[in-house]
Amino acid sequence: MTDITKRQLSRSGVIALWALMLFSVGSLADPDAGKYGWGQNRAISRITDSVYRFGSDGQYGAYIVNAHGVVVIDGHYCASGTMAWLKQEIKARHQQDVSYVILSHDHPDHICRTELFEDTATVIGHRNIRPHILREKRESAVPDIVFDEQMDLYLGDLKINLMFLGPTHSDNLIQVHIPTEKVLVAIDFARGKNLFPDYRDLDVHNALKALKSLSRLEDVEFVLGGHGPVKTQDNFMVYHRYLQAQRDRVLNHMVEGKSLEEIKTLVTMDDFRDYPRIDEYLNSQIETMYNYLWRYREPNQPIVMFR
Ligand SMILES: [Zn+2]
Repeated sequence: MTDITKRQLSRSGVIALWALMLFSVGSLADPDAGKYGWGQNRAISRITDSVYRFGSDGQYGAYIVNAHGVVVIDGHYCASGTMAWLKQEIKARHQQDVSYVILSHDHPDHICRTELFEDTATVIGHRNIRPHILREKRESAVPDIVFDEQMDLYLGDLKINLMFLGPTHSDNLIQVHIPTEKVLVAIDFARGKNLFPDYRDLDVHNALKALKSLSRLEDVEFVLGGHGPVKTQDNFMVYHRYLQAQRDRVLNHMVEGKSLEEIKTLVTMDDFRDYPRIDEYLNSQIETMYNYLWRYREPNQPIVMFR
């Protein structure tokens, strides 16, 4: 999910952003990238002994480093120039090339420009990510190694556990856990009150299950999402409460035989008004929740999906 385009900008802002991106496509090394405002706040912050967070423009990835190598988790916006900058920064700060790149999921804002590291890095992702990258012609590295449920990667003694909890936010989102550092990298999934605009590639039921599992995962102190500040595990259940309530309400009204248009007027989420941007997203959330639940249940009487 493109967080800047979907959550932080108005509709006109989205158009402006796409215009900027069109100008900047293929211009990673474009020295003029800065004149469009990209990458002005690039930063690297150290979270623990071995884990760092990098980012700019409200978008973050992470990297893990010790004497045995460097693992980069995720890319960045194609036009931000941040990955080219990061490559130089890692070399300057740690005197090492990147040995592995992990791709959290296939959404373009999180994997773009990872191809810059393919000269030295082995690229890892979930088995389902490859078809998306190839079909959509993403500007990204393509995984050399894929896995199904979980894999462990070691930098010397430092264990990095990659977990796939089933389809959630896309069918290929993975979580990266570094237990001894007590860090969990949960890109686009440690949401707190940061709502999804819609549920177009969300597996709602499995996402609810995965959010609960991650809220209880042991050996986690720092949760690194793809956007916003460093978080804690309570963020998973804060989001879970909203998604569960909305799912239950839409489903209950569907069972009552209410139409989509009726449900839109009934499910106001007024008791969650401290979650920002509800008014902006509610319509598309309910439409896509209805669509999801349409495919989930068989009513006693046939109903027309959209009426
Ligand atoms: Zn995403």
